[in-house]
Amino acid sequence: MVQDRAKLVAELIEPLRVKPGTKVTLGKDFDPGYKARFVHKKDGTELLQAGVSLLCEYQDKLAAQDTWGMLVCLQALDAAGKDGTIRHVMSGVNPQGVHVSSFKVPSSEELDHDYLWRYAQRLPARGDIGIFNRSHYEEVLVVRVHPDVLDRQKLPPGTKGKDIWARRYREINDWERFLAENGFKIVKLFLNLSKEEQRIRFLKRVDLPDKNWKLSPNDAKERAFWDDYQVAFSEMLTHTSTEWAPWYVIPADRKWFARICVSAILAHTLADIDPQYPTVDAAKLKDLTDVKALLEGEAPAGASPDPFEDELVAQASETQTRTDNKRHHS
Ligand code: AMP
Ligand code: MG
Repeated sequence: MVQDRAKLVAELIEPLRVKPGTKVTLGKDFDPGYKARFVHKKDGTELLQAGVSLLCEYQDKLAAQDTWGMLVCLQALDAAGKDGTIRHVMSGVNPQGVHVSSFKVPSSEELDHDYLWRYAQRLPARGDIGIFNRSHYEEVLVVRVHPDVLDRQKLPPGTKGKDIWARRYREINDWERFLAENGFKIVKLFLNLSKEEQRIRFLKRVDLPDKNWKLSPNDAKERAFWDDYQVAFSEMLTHTSTEWAPWYVIPADRKWFARICVSAILAHTLADIDPQYPTVDAAKLKDLTDVKALLEGEAPAGASPDPFEDELVAQASETQTRTDNKRHHS
């Protein structure tokens, strides 16, 4: 069962992973409307629920072990479903162990530092899952598409030449490698939306009063740069999908399928870490036995020395009876 689940997850996410070293042309290589044959909408809720409980389980162990951290970078154009994905996929995960950071237009303080500075401040601690809603990849996306944004970055003369993007890809890869080698697993998700689906989702934000707040006039203007963004995304995927921090391209036109893919990728990444609850050594075990004896000695008159242990024993015997009955009937 566990084996089947792992196989299903691997099969689901393999076509979405950008193999390091391959050249990506987004429009040609990835279809925003793709759906795996073996996943059906009617099973969507159940599958997502299974993914969520798996994440929950892993997150608990990750926190207990306190050795590894995980960073999830989400990139996409507007209305691709970043917020909804976070809400659905992380629902049910202990909020103490998950930190979401959203990155907007940089402040003047942020512009006074190197371009990775503000992202470094938000990295997850060991035991935590950090989610970047937009990430350091904006530095090779919006900054590349709009030269005036780069102009505001106060770079010294001679550092803004044509080679700047190749250099940033290298710097980002190096930074991520450093993090990976020091215990931080990085996974990067690009929600790949079609231009037509974005048009429809924007219209929905206009037509439904409760959604009006979500649409800024700038969002529609940014559509004029659609082709430039596709090039910037393609280059980013080509140069920054690495063994230590792979990119996945999530088909985003079907929200329900996108969420299943994201939860599968996160579960797969955590399975790779395989976090474990710490075990206690002999000295600690002895301490626990002493504490048990002490607490049992404090049982009030007529009370069981350890009511919890009674429950465990009762449960074990119930399970045994059920197994015996099954065997008897078969
Ligand atoms: P949203 O996430 O839709 O609320 O919008 C955030 C806005 O901040 C988007 O328009 C991004 O393009 C913009 N943004 C994010 N990071 C940067 C950056 N490093 N430089 C300039 N603009 C950015
Ligand atoms: Mg926006």
